[in-house]
Amino acid sequence: MITFSSTATRHNEISQTHGRYDQNAARFVVSSDLWSEAISVNSVATCRLWNHMEIRHEEHSVEVVKIRPIENGQLLECAVSIPFVGRVISFQLHVTVDPISGYLQLTLPQSELVEWMPDAATLMSIDILPEMGAASAGQDGYLFLPCFSGVLHRFDHDMARELRLTIYAAQPQWAMKCHFNLFGIQTLGHRFCGMVTQGDHDAELVVRSHFGPEKTYSVHASWVYRWDHSDAMIDGDRQLTLCPVSSDGKAYNQFARIYRQWLRDERGLQTLEQKAQTRPAVCDFAQTYLLKIMMGYKKPDLNGQGDYQSNTTFAQAQAILQRMRDDGIDHITTQMVGWNAQGHDGRYPQRFPVNEQAGGESAMRELIQWGATQNVYIGVHDNFSDSYQCGDDFDMANVIVGRDGRHWRNVPWAGGFNWRLCPLQSIKHAQRDMPRIAQLGVKANYYMDAIGALSTCHSDDHPADRRAIMAGFQAIFNLAQKHFDTVSTEIAFGPYLHLMDGVYMTHGVESAGKFTDFVEHYVDEHVPALAVALHNGIRYHLAHSLALQGRRGALMDCLWGAMPFIEIACEHVPGVHGMPTYDDVREYVLTSQQLCCRQLADRVSVDIEAIEQVADELWHTTYADGKVVQTDFASGKVTVS
Ligand SMILES: [Zn+2]
Repeated sequence: MITFSSTATRHNEISQTHGRYDQNAARFVVSSDLWSEAISVNSVATCRLWNHMEIRHEEHSVEVVKIRPIENGQLLECAVSIPFVGRVISFQLHVTVDPISGYLQLTLPQSELVEWMPDAATLMSIDILPEMGAASAGQDGYLFLPCFSGVLHRFDHDMARELRLTIYAAQPQWAMKCHFNLFGIQTLGHRFCGMVTQGDHDAELVVRSHFGPEKTYSVHASWVYRWDHSDAMIDGDRQLTLCPVSSDGKAYNQFARIYRQWLRDERGLQTLEQKAQTRPAVCDFAQTYLLKIMMGYKKPDLNGQGDYQSNTTFAQAQAILQRMRDDGIDHITTQMVGWNAQGHDGRYPQRFPVNEQAGGESAMRELIQWGATQNVYIGVHDNFSDSYQCGDDFDMANVIVGRDGRHWRNVPWAGGFNWRLCPLQSIKHAQRDMPRIAQLGVKANYYMDAIGALSTCHSDDHPADRRAIMAGFQAIFNLAQKHFDTVSTEIAFGPYLHLMDGVYMTHGVESAGKFTDFVEHYVDEHVPALAVALHNGIRYHLAHSLALQGRRGALMDCLWGAMPFIEIACEHVPGVHGMPTYDDVREYVLTSQQLCCRQLADRVSVDIEAIEQVADELWHTTYADGKVVQTDFASGKVTVS
């Protein structure tokens, strides 16, 4: 089984099936017995480097010097040369095909990567199989991008664009929400997905739309070795896995199933049944009715000195929860937002004393004890990323330092300007405070807020590259798992999914469009691929704003396989966290309880195979046991067949 060949005849034949006739440009054909069709590429790789002589970034083609057979594939000896000095970079690319799955793996071992003249040129990144399988304008099909819950980009745009999308969003791209390491393409001729399976913390996707003289559409992976030319080289082996898929059903569902299997096999994401063997409370949490109660926060002030505004005291929270109990919601978990000193975003990393304006620690303990008798579990909404100068625990030495030596001051919240904590430092706060939170009686669920992007830290004392920053968050989540039965967070970043029991899931991209033109230029359709990947592993819920849509919001939960969620307060308070009251969302609560927690309760622990819109107002969610949930927005009915 040949995986790479440069046979001109073969290429011409293939390129014609793609409708591309540039005989001189294309040199390589990727093929295997298990791929339905061979795919031509112009080059195996291109390389970005920093030319120290010219003081600039340059892009160079990678020359394949030699091809040797190895078991299940080929080894490509590659080199990059620049004018005047010749070869500056060399590496070996191992190209193998898994004989069973047909997956094509391209691996670049770190030990075989050499910078021959680092004073002349340093490696920035290697684009691998650039524009592989590119589609031409007007074709049917799409690029699949791992943003939000899955983005489809069609081949019908009219402006040439190129985007380098950081896998696991960096701060400048936080609003694009690229949180997982999967991409794909479906054309008339082929469909396959790719996963950056090693070195995924330092990788990009290169998305080209209506690009170049042929106006092609493509997405390929790039392994990043330096984010800035002054950085040390990021080490570690790199690997890209390409997976052909059959033409059966919608491609994005197939991509999601492949990604799910990889998360389970390689990254330790467990099914609910597997989790229950060591942590039985997880299944309980997966079935619970979840809500956030906003307790209060200070008025906007850049120094965090605004007056406190109360939404809900601990006593008022009990009254809300009692009303839900009276409405038949018999199993509830809450995340108390602003339980901590001076309310939501009040004085982090200081969290004690417990919010005194809301009743203080004794009132919180009373609420927890009352809940324990009512099947109502009180958890906290917590945060190890933000710090405020108004708090007692503020220490600039814990803050992330940028390449320019400046401490990172992020946008202001209720505590004033928000200095972002390096997780290598904030774990000390977690070690100190998590046991104390647990001693309050918080047990069933713990929620960590505000991990929105992966940065690098250039502090002399606690430097961290993106992989180390993620390892820092993982360590905090591991600690949380020791103290609490289940752990939730805001955003489903691929590298910590195996540590997560609950996440938000984006079901609509409209609000993100306010922060990034990515939505306007790249999102032709937003699809529930992430739901297919995470269902029966992690309890997920959609945005709280859906609850304002009443029954329609609950129907949206059903088609996504999501569990219900509301975010409420006892009293309206003006400001950025305007929250509905229980009455505002009661119709949603009653309907979602009936649909998600009763009618579809047994669906929670079954894999989802596909989610598809089959008519204008009709969606089918197909489960691995063959049952199909039909969500009909026209009639408002949900049926299982
Ligand atoms: Zn640091």
